[in-house]
Amino acid sequence: MRTRSRDHSGAELLRLVAQQEECFFCGGRLVICETQERHVQTLAKLFHVIGKGKKCASPGCGHGALRYRSSEVGRLVLKAHEFGRDIVLWAGDQHVRENVSIARVHRRLVEDSGYRFASVASATWSTTTWLCASAWRGTRGGCARG
Ligand SMILES: [Zn+2]
Repeated sequence: MRTRSRDHSGAELLRLVAQQEECFFCGGRLVICETQERHVQTLAKLFHVIGKGKKCASPGCGHGALRYRSSEVGRLVLKAHEFGRDIVLWAGDQHVRENVSIARVHRRLVEDSGYRFASVASATWSTTTWLCASAWRGTRGGCARG
């Protein structure tokens, strides 16, 4: 987990555990082996996501290094992002389809929606949105860390 001096008070706790109980390859029992924590800001609220990953516990399994993780995390947020997919989609739509500047998209998010956004660095926001918008235009391979 990255450590930054941001206000995460009031975040809603979201515990997400991989649903699989058995190894896809050997059928062995899966055990929880890791805990990943992150904060994810969505349009609706700030989440403190605690993801529990599992691995195969069978000593003879050749896939013991494989980690099973909750698919809910992927539905909520892109990898290495701190903004929910809903924000990325909303911001990308504003910027790409409606030609709203990144700065104005940011202001709209803060002022119009009442969205708790003041604690998020503007530079991070701009980079994230720009990269995603660029990816949508096909000028980059995909979204990158903001
Ligand atoms: Zn296995």
